[in-house]
Amino acid sequence: MFWQGPAAAVAARQVAITIDDGYCAECARAYARLAEATGIHITFNPNGCYSEIWNPLASTLKPLIEAGQVQIGNHTFNHWWLTELTDAQIIAQLEQNEEWIQQTYGITARPWWRPPYGAYDERTNELAASIGYTNVLMWNGSFGDSTVISARALLHLAREYLQPGVVMLGHANHPTVTHLFRQIAEIIGHRHLSPVTLDEMFGTSRSTGRST
Ligand SMILES: [Zn+2]
Repeated sequence: MFWQGPAAAVAARQVAITIDDGYCAECARAYARLAEATGIHITFNPNGCYSEIWNPLASTLKPLIEAGQVQIGNHTFNHWWLTELTDAQIIAQLEQNEEWIQQTYGITARPWWRPPYGAYDERTNELAASIGYTNVLMWNGSFGDSTVISARALLHLAREYLQPGVVMLGHANHPTVTHLFRQIAEIIGHRHLSPVTLDEMFGTSRSTGRST
């Protein structure tokens, strides 16, 4: 389980910005443009059920992925509560999303996966590990925007949680955050934080993943 960066990440003032789901087309586009325009390092954890939104962004994101600036994690295909599913359904949720990620972005997400709603148990984690998803991605900071949040509340959370070594959770689900990119960048800049991918924070590599 990975809730936060290791001591070395704290010392290096790294933050891992991790952006999930993506059912708001305008938001996913804004994040892709942000990465392209600013060079900020981001990990996206999109669900394949939103492929109509994410597939058109592949041309923007692929070069950034190849450069190691952007990483893709597996957040399952349908964003269901895995603890309610059968073993076979859990495996299928991860494999279907992995297949979509490979087809769309040309890389594996292994070994990183994030359980939808943060809902995991021993069974989900063992099943995931059995197909190469050994690293369960949790978080210790959040923009609080999986559902609608005010700009004021989101900025409050950004100021509270953007600290050295934090794994920050955000969502491409509601446009609030897209109007706050400048303010968030200022917080990161003032605090001399360095946004990194999971590979950079935890020393994993795209070559450790294997396609099935
Ligand atoms: Zn999610």
